[in-house]
Amino acid sequence: MITEADEALLRRAIALAAHAVALGDAPYGSLLAGPDGEVLAEAHNTVRRDDDITAHPELKLARWAARELTPDTAARTTMYTSCQPCGMCEGGILRSGIGRVVYALATEQLVELNPDSGAWPTVPTDGPALPEEARAPVAAYYRRT
Ligand SMILES: [Zn+2]
Repeated sequence: MITEADEALLRRAIALAAHAVALGDAPYGSLLAGPDGEVLAEAHNTVRRDDDITAHPELKLARWAARELTPDTAARTTMYTSCQPCGMCEGGILRSGIGRVVYALATEQLVELNPDSGAWPTVPTDGPALPEEARAPVAAYYRRT
């Protein structure tokens, strides 16, 4: 359920998206809020400025949360983001331990505005191959921990 407090924080994320555009970047903004709704960190897209395909605000905040917050604190945070996180960011959010995501624009709605946003091809993938050779360093690592 999305509350009025959620909507207020979403509006801040949307303002960050507009700020990104004003700076010449793509229109995406996000923030991370603590359990009482206090803003812990903010980010916007800097893919163009940083020449970094991973510079999505959601992934930046997930990395920040994993680095700066304890797992317990991360689990009590909510990410507010102007658009539904992409697959790359979703993976980072999962690994960061962030407890909840609230987004404004769904991916399907984004694709209506920019069809290229939904046109990601799949990458040809082959494997598994050489599993016994690949298993050796992994097995050695996990026996150590
Ligand atoms: Zn993303």
